[in-house]
Amino acid sequence: MDPTVIARLQSSLDALADDDDSRAHFSALFYTALFAEHPLYRSLFPAGMESQGHRFVTAIEFVVKNLPQQRRIRKFLTQLGLDHRRYGVEREHYRAAGVAMRRAVKSMHGTSAHSRYKWTPELEEAWSEFTEFVVSTMAEGAESDTTPALWGGTVVSHERVLDDLAIVRLETDPPIPYGAGQYVGVQVPQRPRMWRYYSPAIPTNPFGQLEFHVRKVSGGWVSPAIVTETNVGDQWVMSTPLGGLEVDFTHDRDVLMIGSGTGIAPLRAQVMEMSQRAQNPRVHLFVGGRYPCDLYDLETLWHISLSNPWLTVVPVSEEAENPWWHSGPALEPPFGMHSRLTGPIGRVVARFGSWADRQIQISGSPSMIKTTIYALRAGGTPIDQILHDPLY
Ligand SMILES: Cc1cc2nc3c(=O)[nH]c(=O)nc-3n(C[C@H](O)[C@H](O)[C@H](O)COP(=O)(O)OP(=O)(O)OC[C@H]3O[C@@H](n4cnc5c(N)ncnc54)[C@H](O)[C@@H]3O)c2cc1C
Repeated sequence: MDPTVIARLQSSLDALADDDDSRAHFSALFYTALFAEHPLYRSLFPAGMESQGHRFVTAIEFVVKNLPQQRRIRKFLTQLGLDHRRYGVEREHYRAAGVAMRRAVKSMHGTSAHSRYKWTPELEEAWSEFTEFVVSTMAEGAESDTTPALWGGTVVSHERVLDDLAIVRLETDPPIPYGAGQYVGVQVPQRPRMWRYYSPAIPTNPFGQLEFHVRKVSGGWVSPAIVTETNVGDQWVMSTPLGGLEVDFTHDRDVLMIGSGTGIAPLRAQVMEMSQRAQNPRVHLFVGGRYPCDLYDLETLWHISLSNPWLTVVPVSEEAENPWWHSGPALEPPFGMHSRLTGPIGRVVARFGSWADRQIQISGSPSMIKTTIYALRAGGTPIDQILHDPLY
């Protein structure tokens, strides 16, 4: 896309979506335009549209801001198109969304004569080019995948390993062909049409076995239902695998993985898969939690490490001791395993100095990912070699 067009789009969006109210207004105009023209599309969306609207504007801002990085943006839109397959979205829906987006932008600019907001033929052309680019890249992305858009799975086990954390195991038939490290959209029967992403904690296998680690987010809609209301026999729906957390085996760079809480799931799936390979780069896996008792999966990771010398597991807890309400002592590492370190995980990892010679993956909550990147960068690690999932 031409740099002048990009600059025009960027200043237009800066003017339109400069605070939370204007962002909410923008998404409301978009969905009003879409549903007015196509009332049946409303059924594709959840009852409460607030977070959907927020995601819509965040995605538009991300694309406009990063338009100069065409490869990155194409990849993002392709994944978004793949993700939208779960709603049964097709070419005609994309076309309708493009029209609604142009209408929303035009109404936001209004009839103001102020130069910052004025709707001009150049702007009209820039937004038309932009919407055409977005919808065609998403539609092509969606069409590039010929596997089913949705997969059904039956819950075969639900284990509450911590008060606020459950390990849920399912079986799907056929197996979902995901890469270790990817995530999938999940819909549970207790919360219809409320899709959330979860990362399988084991690699895909011919038996269709799946395992998710889910933490209950206080005040959340879906995760408390998964942790407290899931029953064996429940039918879940999963969507197209997404995400690009993976080890690059084409060069011999060693690997640094940093996972906190249930963020260890995609890293665990990868080291499990690597344990089936004959040769691997060295992997340092830092596993974090608030208290020592939050490191719920250490025994499995130690187990893998004991038989795979390329893997070093380093437990990290923010607090040195368990909380007073937790009964039972903290786990002691088996002989030869790294003992537990204390502190915020990013700072603990950065204490070792620069990790400039590693390929790096970080997985956890958005705030953990951001603070860990910050700490690594401050310690001299270049951020262009860090992979993480999107910070939705
Ligand atoms: C790529 C990806 C992979 C993920 N994989 C996993 C996984 O394997 N296991 C897992 O437990 N979760 C995972 N998540 C988070 C998950 O998708 C949900 O966001 C989470 O379960 C909360 O959903 P909810 O419906 O309960 O909360 P919502 O109703 O969506 O949100 C309620 C409130 O909680 C806040 N919130 C949402 N998520 C978090 C969070 N993680 N930490 C702190 N505050 C939060 C929201 O901002 C909001 O204010 C993943 C997220 C992404 C983007």
